[in-house]
Amino acid sequence: MSDIDDFEDTRDFSFELPHSSPVSPTRLELDDQLKFRCHRGVSCWNQCCSRADVTLAPYDIIRLKNSTGMDSTEFLKAHTVPFELDMHGVPGLKLRTDDSGACLFMKEEGCSVYADRPTACRYYPSGLLSMKSISESTDERHFLLIKEEHCKGHDEDQLQTIGEYRKAQGVEEYDDLNLEWYQIILKKKSTGPSIGKPSDMSLQMFFMASYDMDRFRRFVMSDAFIKMYDINDDEYAEFETDDIALMKFGFKLMKQVFFGELTVKEREGAWEERVKERKEILEFRKQAEIAEHDRKQDAARKASLDSGKDE
Ligand code: SF4
Ligand code: SF4
Repeated sequence: MSDIDDFEDTRDFSFELPHSSPVSPTRLELDDQLKFRCHRGVSCWNQCCSRADVTLAPYDIIRLKNSTGMDSTEFLKAHTVPFELDMHGVPGLKLRTDDSGACLFMKEEGCSVYADRPTACRYYPSGLLSMKSISESTDERHFLLIKEEHCKGHDEDQLQTIGEYRKAQGVEEYDDLNLEWYQIILKKKSTGPSIGKPSDMSLQMFFMASYDMDRFRRFVMSDAFIKMYDINDDEYAEFETDDIALMKFGFKLMKQVFFGELTVKEREGAWEERVKERKEILEFRKQAEIAEHDRKQDAARKASLDSGKDE
C-alpha cells in the first residue's frame, strides 16, 4: 500500500467513491487485503447511503434505467444531477439525493436497486483509481481504500483481497463495460489544451452517447445518421434492441468526435453530399431572407405612398 500523494507524475485521477469524505484514501493493488464486511446487522446500516455522492458511468445508467423501468431520458430527469468532469465542461452525472443528502433509492431495509446498484456503491469502501502518467500512452488501474469513522464494516473480521471483493460485489462486469469510457475521459483530461474545448455539439453528443441511451438510439436510427455512416443492417438490428452494443458504438463515435480517430466509417461521398445539402439549405435561407427583406421594403413604400395620398 502507498499513499495517493506518491503519484506526482500522473496527470489525473478518477476516484470512484460513493461519498465525499475528508478522509484520505490509501492506494491498493488487486492482491492487497481488505478486512471488511457489510451486512444488515451492522450498527451503521444505511449511513453511507444517507449521504450519497455517487458518480455514474454509462453502464450504471443502463442498469438503473432498466431496473426502474424508465427510459433513459425519464431516468436522467428523475434520478440524476449534472456536474462537470473537467475544466472544459465535459458533462458528468451523479445520483440525485433528497435535501438531507440521502440517496432516493435508500429504503429502511437497504438499497431498493441492490441488484443493479452503481459501480461506486459496489466498490465502497474501496474504489477504482484510473491514472494516466504524462509520460505513458496507456492508463494504469489501481484501487483505493477509504476508512471512514462511521463505517463499522471495517471492524468485522472478514478478510479478502481487493480482487476477491470486486468479484463478490459484481464490479468486474461494470469495470469491463465502462473501461473504454474511463479511457476516453482520461485521454481527454491528459491531452489537455492540445485537444482544447470541445464544441457544444460534441459535448451534447458525448452526453447523449454516455447517458441518454434511448435518445442516442433514435439519433443513430435517424435518416441523416444512416445516410452519413457506413453501418450494416446487422449492426443496426443490434443497436435497435441491445443497449450494451449501442453503448459500445457510442464510445467509438466519441473517439471520432473528440480525438478525430476514424473509428466509424463514413459512407463514400456522404460528407460531400452533406456539404452540398448544407449549401442548398443556406442558399434557401438566404433567398428567404432576401424575399422577406423585399417584402418589408415594399410594405413600407406602400405605407408611405398611402400616407401621401391622405394629405
Ligand atoms: S444506489 Fe443503493 S447502494 Fe447506492 S447510494 Fe443509493 S441506496 Fe445506497
Ligand atoms: S458497514 Fe459501511 S458500507 Fe455497510 S452500511 Fe455501514 S457505513 Fe454503509
